[in-house]
Amino acid sequence: MASMRETLAMGEWQRVEPSAVTSGYDAPYLQRYQLELRRMAAQLRGVEVVHVNSTGVGGGVAEILTSMIPLSRWYGLDTRWLVIPPDNAYFGVTRRVHDLLQGDEGELSEHEWQTYLAHVRASGAPLVDDGRPRVWFVHDHQLLPLIEQLPRDDVKVWISHVDTSRPNPAIFQRLQPFMQQYDQISFSLPQYVPSSFDRARTPVSICPPAIDPLRHKNQPMLENEALAYTAQYGIDPERPFIAQISRFDPWKDPIGVIDAYRLIKERLPGLQLALVGALAAADDAKAVETLEVVRHHANGDTDIHIYWDPLQIDEAFVRAFQAAPQVVIQKSTREGFGLTVTEAMWKGKAVVGGNVGGIAVQIRDGITGFLVDDVEQCARRTLELLIDPELRQTLGTAARASVEEHGLLPRLLRDYLTLAIRHRGIGD
Ligand code: UDP
Repeated sequence: MASMRETLAMGEWQRVEPSAVTSGYDAPYLQRYQLELRRMAAQLRGVEVVHVNSTGVGGGVAEILTSMIPLSRWYGLDTRWLVIPPDNAYFGVTRRVHDLLQGDEGELSEHEWQTYLAHVRASGAPLVDDGRPRVWFVHDHQLLPLIEQLPRDDVKVWISHVDTSRPNPAIFQRLQPFMQQYDQISFSLPQYVPSSFDRARTPVSICPPAIDPLRHKNQPMLENEALAYTAQYGIDPERPFIAQISRFDPWKDPIGVIDAYRLIKERLPGLQLALVGALAAADDAKAVETLEVVRHHANGDTDIHIYWDPLQIDEAFVRAFQAAPQVVIQKSTREGFGLTVTEAMWKGKAVVGGNVGGIAVQIRDGITGFLVDDVEQCARRTLELLIDPELRQTLGTAARASVEEHGLLPRLLRDYLTLAIRHRGIGD
């Protein structure tokens, strides 16, 4: 029988080997996970843990896997990360499926549906069963139909990272039969389990995402040091500064951020805004279009700084632009989870976030940040923070403590391994 390694080369799956940090997971604040994770890794000895998704860079899933792979190996797990061969027509459809799952109106044409299925089927065909026991973590809808081709005896878990609380019924009806074939499915938040999902047939669990505290971009940074960095990119360190770091996507509401900035600027004329969103994800064609709309809306205002060049926006850049502003905004109108919020909170920042999805779960309004429902509220809360350093400090300190408690990667690895072990039949 052909080995998986040979057949993968045929199928052109990309094997991603992240270069993230591979030591230091024994830091004091991560100690509480050590024993449990070591025991779990021992229970999975001889089993390969495979993560599959649709892109190696850009977006929250790639972000998690970039760190999840080294962390898993650190605990002795045999693990790998595979990315489906790219295809523009397929990515166009999966982008649309994403929007439909988050509640957009409309329907896929039969041609689009077939484009989606055909690419997953053609790509999945070479993933033959070489008899090696595996646990498959299939991330997001792009790969959902892959279930048809995964070996029968392996453990198969589908992990949804988007807000499916009110999915478009037509797309959900089409996708649900695939979901129900998995051994287990996982959502980021309890409210994302669609009400029509048959939980009696397929068990559902909740695994909120998490960040890797050892990644360069998640290292704390003094505001002054960060401001010296952002000054190189045109931000005046002497004037008030707010930022949103997010893909250019209508759901992230960059237009609303500009409108809020304009309202605040009436009171604080020196205010500067940075919108940072690398055009990196191979499956995010809509970002270019959104960027154009945002630029047009900025209307030449030289205090609105828009950064999109993926060569420029590396980890150091994201780190500094999350640490330098007095206030970080994430004014999404839909948000699967919002790792950017976790990252800024971990840096001790007061975040003003849209009162939706994962942001509303992460931020306790008035305690670890502020939740806002519209542009006016966003402007009011941001201004409140801009003029009150003590309030910023209080919320920021509480924000960091909250991430330490719930939002760090070893907790998520434990959540995933719990599912793997349960379905391998070797659980407690
Ligand atoms: N990100 C980045 N560069 C950017 C914008 C975002 O590296 O220009 C990262 C960000 O730090 C975060 C992830 O991409 O880790 C975005 O995850 P999130 O859950 O906030 O949103 P998603 O893109 O998955 O909708």
